[in-house]
This record gives sequence, C-alpha cells and structure tokens, in this order.
Amino acid sequence: MPRELHGRCFCSAIRVTAKAEPFQVSWCHCRDCRRQTGAPAVVWAGFATADIEWQGSPKRRQSSPGITRAFCDQCGTPLSYEDARLVGETYIHAGIFDEADRIVPDRHAYVTSKLFWLHLEDGLAKFDTTTRERLG
Ligand SMILES: [Zn+2]
Ligand SMILES: [Zn+2]
Repeated sequence: MPRELHGRCFCSAIRVTAKAEPFQVSWCHCRDCRRQTGAPAVVWAGFATADIEWQGSPKRRQSSPGITRAFCDQCGTPLSYEDARLVGETYIHAGIFDEADRIVPDRHAYVTSKLFWLHLEDGLAKFDTTTRERLG
C-alpha cells in the first residue's frame, strides 16, 4: 500500500489527498511563485494528476499563458500549479501537507531568480530555469 499524503488550506475548506509519493520535489525561486505566495521561495511537490484527489473547490486562475494556479478563495492559501505543457502533472505546495516533513526537496529551479541573501548549501542540483522539459 502506498502511503498517502494529506493536505489542506489554512481554513480547511479545501483538502487534498495524494495517493502516491511525489515524483520530484523542487524548490522554485522564480519571481511568479515569489509574488503569488509572498514567500522568498517555494517548494513544489510534483504528482501524477491521477494520484491527486481534491475535496472542496479550489479557485483556478490562469496566471500566464498555459499556467493555472489554484488557491482557496476563502482563506487565500496558494495550492497548486499546472502547466499545459506538462500533461498529467500537478504541482502542490509542500507546505500544505500534514506530512510536509516527508516531502524532501531534491532540486532547485530558477536559481537565476533566487534572492541573493538566500544561500543554497544543501548540495542539491540547481537549474537555471525549469527542471522539467516542456512539450512544444
Ligand atoms: Zn481555505
Ligand atoms: Zn516558480
């Protein structure tokens, strides 16, 4: 039996269950993630969309062409990210999971946009921009 992961927004109107472990866990230092969350950097857990079940209705918004970000429209918690060029993949903020300690980052994305005062000394792979090849 794969171990499930359980997440929720700050007000609990939205809950999510992941039925499998993430296939990758990446820091993202890009300006869009920074602006959208207000955090200096974020950690995205990448899942097969088929392994994700939502309860409640996340508000979905296209933040740039092909990019959909979802959040709770009750409390504002940012929840997920989908790229139309990454078919079948859903990225969820690691921090919303009860088991966040189990979701350990394995790489850094967009280090070219990283805040200079954030020092990366964890030995993980660093990518200038995205960590995954996009279609088209
Ligand atoms: Zn909420
Ligand atoms: Zn980002």
